[in-house]
Amino acid sequence: MAVTMKCRHCQQTMGTIDDEERVYELIGQQPLALDIVQLNDDGEVFVQLVCEHCEEILTQNPNLFENDTFIH
Ligand SMILES: [Zn+2]
Repeated sequence: MAVTMKCRHCQQTMGTIDDEERVYELIGQQPLALDIVQLNDDGEVFVQLVCEHCEEILTQNPNLFENDTFIH
């Protein structure tokens, strides 16, 4: 099943991985332990990550970690 990776902050699509297992290897966690994996109505799987751009912003502004959606 293809998994789409999205930035949880700016909703930017970061890419799609065809092998679901590979995604969990990349993020180093098991899906059942995550609340960042979402299914939409079409049965597509999304993994919510943080893109490089947002990670940089968060590094420079650590207090923004308090807000999940500071970019709209
Ligand atoms: Zn982002």
